[in-house]
Amino acid sequence: MLTKAPRGTKDLFGDEMNAWLEMENIIRDLCRDFSYGEIRTPIFEHTELFQRGVGETTDIVQKEMYSFQDKKGRNITLKPEGTAGAVRSYIEQKMYAGIQPTRLYYITPAFRYEKPQAGRMRQFHQFGIELLGSDSPTADVEVITVAFELLKRMGITKVKLHINSLGGPECRKKYNEKLKEYLKDNLNNLCETCRDRFERNPLRILDCKNESCSVIVSNAPTVLDVLGDECRSHFEQVKALLDEMGISYIVDTGIVRGLDYYTKTVFEFISTDIGAQGTICGGGRYNNLVEELGGQATAAVGFAVGLERLMMVAEAENGKKEYAQYKDIFIGSIGDAAILKAHSLIYKLRQAGIIAEGDHFNRSVKAQMKYADKIGARYSMIIGEDEINKGKALLKNMNTKEEIEVSFLDLVNTMKSIL
Ligand code: ATP
Ligand code: MG
Repeated sequence: MLTKAPRGTKDLFGDEMNAWLEMENIIRDLCRDFSYGEIRTPIFEHTELFQRGVGETTDIVQKEMYSFQDKKGRNITLKPEGTAGAVRSYIEQKMYAGIQPTRLYYITPAFRYEKPQAGRMRQFHQFGIELLGSDSPTADVEVITVAFELLKRMGITKVKLHINSLGGPECRKKYNEKLKEYLKDNLNNLCETCRDRFERNPLRILDCKNESCSVIVSNAPTVLDVLGDECRSHFEQVKALLDEMGISYIVDTGIVRGLDYYTKTVFEFISTDIGAQGTICGGGRYNNLVEELGGQATAAVGFAVGLERLMMVAEAENGKKEYAQYKDIFIGSIGDAAILKAHSLIYKLRQAGIIAEGDHFNRSVKAQMKYADKIGARYSMIIGEDEINKGKALLKNMNTKEEIEVSFLDLVNTMKSIL
């Protein structure tokens, strides 16, 4: 127990960590280019926020939340996704009073009690964006282009954009009736959860992972059949703009998304490369959420990308990255006085942004040089009593083996000029 991380969690370090940092840098550059500003909200929130925000009939709220009571008996939940917290903050911090639209992005751990498998963890990470304040189809497409561009910058090509429209509350009401009509003769063949959904939120049945349920709904009427004029025109404009931009998509009426809050456009980017957990990114418009959480009615659209899955897909396509270690300089030493000199020079170099290392083990000169090789030092210097007396030492190019004599006082400048 003591030396085993909890099931469904993972340590990140070494080359894998380097690959993650690179991915995060791509995300941050991307968000800068698209004018999204970072938001960091707490890892835990009041449980009620997710019950309301994610929805009572979702898998997340019904089965997956990490909830507990704190010492004062408050009901707390570790965030299972990023949107609820971001929207809570948008309302609480009165972001709606600033320049509109509001564009936010987050990179956050998320927690769901699920059966761990490839691409499905109990602690995972999401990158997500939210564009709040506009109901324009151009906003839907802007959000889609952020995800599309991310995949491009990650070198991922084996992925398809699936889009659908869930309509507004009116269309949804009409559709729920139509779907219930279609399902009512098959009610006994649905799973228990879906029988409950039949009354509370029949649309969610379309998203059931249960084989017998998906067979039943495969010929069900679709929301697109009942879209009202405004929602239909909105969806047409989304498609027209995607066409104009040359972004190809599949209209997929099976996309209803796991969360209750979606309206109008919904979309997923699905990998054709990694099988079961192929949905890398899911998003859509959620025009009712801000009001649902106690704010003024505010149109909004966003997505979330699972970073573990994004990484899996990038690696499946382009291989695991290896990061060669290198240091600018290794400074070794022989004798007590030299140790002091070496380490104080190392500190000076580091202050100047030069990657310097030394010996912490009192190793022999031979062992120190072996270490210098291992860490990929481009230059080395060994300081002994003689060098201290002269105030200078030989600086060796580890590649060409060329040596030049450099005074300690000039070392930082010399290194700066040759690197
Ligand atoms: P799925 O259908 O795979 O369960 P979801 O609908 O629950 O996904 P969302 O809530 O939309 O997923 O979350 C957005 C993205 O976060 C997913 O597309 C996926 O990439 C990632 N994700 C969701 N749950 C997990 C998890 N348990 N482990 C790793 N990544 C996850
Ligand atoms: Mg899920």
